Formats: sequence, structure tokens, C-alpha cells
Amino acid sequence: MAVADTHFGEDLKKFGAFDFNACYNCGTCTAVCSLSDEQNSFPREMVRFSVLGLRDDISASVKPWLCYYCGQCSTHCPQDAKPAELMMSLRRYLTSVYDCSGLGRKLYTSKVWEFGSISLLALVILVLFIFLHGPMTTELTEQGGVKLNTFAPWKQVEIGDWIMAGMLSFFLLSNIFNMYLKIVRKNEGLKIPLKLYVTEFYHLVLHFATQKQLSKCDTLGTRKKFTFSSYWIIHWFLMSSYVVMFIMIVFFLGWFQTDNIYHWTHPQRLLGYYATAGLLTGVVWFFVARFRKRDEKSKHSHITDWTFLVLLFLTTVTGILVQIFRINGMPYPTYYTYVIHLMVLFPMLMIEVPFSKWSHLAYRPFAIYFDRVVQAAKKIK
Ligand code: SF4
Ligand code: SF4
Repeated sequence: MAVADTHFGEDLKKFGAFDFNACYNCGTCTAVCSLSDEQNSFPREMVRFSVLGLRDDISASVKPWLCYYCGQCSTHCPQDAKPAELMMSLRRYLTSVYDCSGLGRKLYTSKVWEFGSISLLALVILVLFIFLHGPMTTELTEQGGVKLNTFAPWKQVEIGDWIMAGMLSFFLLSNIFNMYLKIVRKNEGLKIPLKLYVTEFYHLVLHFATQKQLSKCDTLGTRKKFTFSSYWIIHWFLMSSYVVMFIMIVFFLGWFQTDNIYHWTHPQRLLGYYATAGLLTGVVWFFVARFRKRDEKSKHSHITDWTFLVLLFLTTVTGILVQIFRINGMPYPTYYTYVIHLMVLFPMLMIEVPFSKWSHLAYRPFAIYFDRVVQAAKKIK
């Protein structure tokens, strides 16, 4: 039997929810939502569950992950209960539910933890560079030219990359496993043949690679089919740029971080340009939208939305500056900017990938995949 938690509303407000208790259950939000259907009807149900404090039902629900935050439900809500913001705060809340370490909750609900963790991780990078590489900076500069791979040998940086990737994978995969337990294993008595995990797997790949639901859920709010909306294009450009950059720095660092200056048509430079253009375009687009607050989905920003954008912006800009200084043979600016670049990049990946915005890139397609497995199993029951 579902247990009501009277403190749930207060708890959810820490994750960014507004006064959803104003809801009088009219259902307009669900009627206008272009992603809601018979199998998965939302957001009205999620608003009701939140009002009633049904913490366990929400923890086991896939519905918050099916929403792409177009904001149409909030625009049409007669009570200004802001169901779109509630869905967004439920995604933050669920991230903290999947995370056994407790870090996810702390990072979402405490500015001290958020800024303290970022500062601490940045400081670790700074101290490592001061002790390991500081003494050689003057010597290298006197030799002339830029020797980034002597200042920061890619093999050493790669070891750091792999340690970081290992920690990220641990947090991300354990959280996804907890999501699986909550979404799939809650269906006690439902027999799920193993082959369904294989036959439905394409949903995971498809939704991760295309984010196709986003284009059905844009500012028009009534689209049922995929279209190349500008919002989808920007979002996909940003996401694919991030994936390209992540693969290059984690798996191909020796090829990417080189002292050679290739012709601009070399694949190393072209991929770098693509990733930089996508990150910069995306981050500026979302900055402007959040400042202008014209559309519903950009009106309300949680503190973690801003830290995500600021870290991403600083990472991209310092990365561009390192390349400009390196190509123009400026050793000191190259070395110092490189250290600053890693001081921003490291906390951004460590905090944003498993716990914050970037994590949604993984959680959403996995949630859709688990849901499709359950739906398919129910059909053959
Ligand atoms: S959130 Fe608003 S639109 Fe949705 S059911 Fe409640 S009052 Fe109606
Ligand atoms: S924000 Fe858009 S996708 Fe999400 S519940 Fe509201 S109408 Fe549906």
C-alpha cells in the first residue's frame, strides 16, 4: 500500500519545485502535453503523487524522464502550479534517489556542497600541477617554443583521465542499476524474458543518439511527429560535440594533445573545431535563453543549471585559448591557461556527468529502454 509522506512537498522544493499544491486536478497539463499517451499519461499524475507525498511511487516512476521540458503544461495550467518545473525537479530528485552515496542530494540541495566540491576538485588539479610541473615551467619557457607535452605529458594526463572515467562510470552505472531496480523490478510477478532486453535494446541507442522525443516536444507543444526544430538542432549539436570531445580526451588523448601543428584540414583539428563550435553555440544559446526568460522552459533556473553553463563555458573558452596560444608559440600563456582549463574541466566532468545535467543524457534513454522492456513484457503476459 502506498505510504504518504507529508514532508515530501517541502523536500521537493529544495530540488526546484514551486507551489504545485495549487493544482486542482483539471488535467489540462496532460491534455496539452505532446509526449503524454495512454501508456504513460503525465504530468497531472506526477503532480497528484507529489501533492499526496507518494514518495515510493514517484521513485519507481519512469514518467519524469519522458518529459523533455517544453513548458507547455505550465503555460496552460489555470492554477499556475508549474507542472513543467515540477517534472524537472522530480528528475533532480530521482537522480538523488538512484545515488546511494548521498552526494547527488547534497549537490542539488546545498550551495556549500556544490561550490565547495567544485573548488576542492579545482584545487586538487592546481596543487598537482604546482608540485609536479611547476618547477619546469621557467626552464621550458627559456628553451623557446611551446612544449605542452613536456609541461604536461599526455600519458600522465591520460592516467588522470582514466581514474576520472572510472569514478564517473562507477557512479553513473550504479545509479542506472538502481534505476533499473526501481522501474523494472518493482513489477513483482511480471515475467520478463531475457530476449526482451535484447529486442528492446535499440530504444536505448536510438533515444541516446537522436533525442528524437525532444523535437516532438517543442514550444508548439502540439507536435506528435519528429521535426528538425531549431531547439532540437541546438540541443543535438551541443550533445554530439560533448560526446566527440569526451571521446577525444579520454580515449585518444595522445592524438589530440600534440605539440604538432597540423593543417586546418587535419581530422584532429576538424573534430576539435566541430566540438568547440557545438559547445560554444549550445552554451551561448542556453545562456541567452535563461537571461531573456521568454519561453516557459527558460524562466526558472536552479542554481545547478547556472553552474553547469558556467563550467561548460569556461571549459570551452580556456580550451580555445590554449589552442590559440599554442599555435602562436606563446609558452607561458599556453601552460597557465592549460592548468586553468583542467581546473574547470575536471570538476565539470566529475560533478555534471553522474549527478547533474549531463547525467540526463544517460538516464533518460535508459529509463525509456527499461519502460519499453516492461511494456513489452506486459503485452505477452
Ligand atoms: S497542474 Fe495545473 S493543469 Fe495540471 S491538473 Fe493541476 S491545475 Fe490542472
Ligand atoms: S514540459 Fe512539455 S513534455 Fe514535459 S510534461 Fe510539460 S508539456 Fe509534457
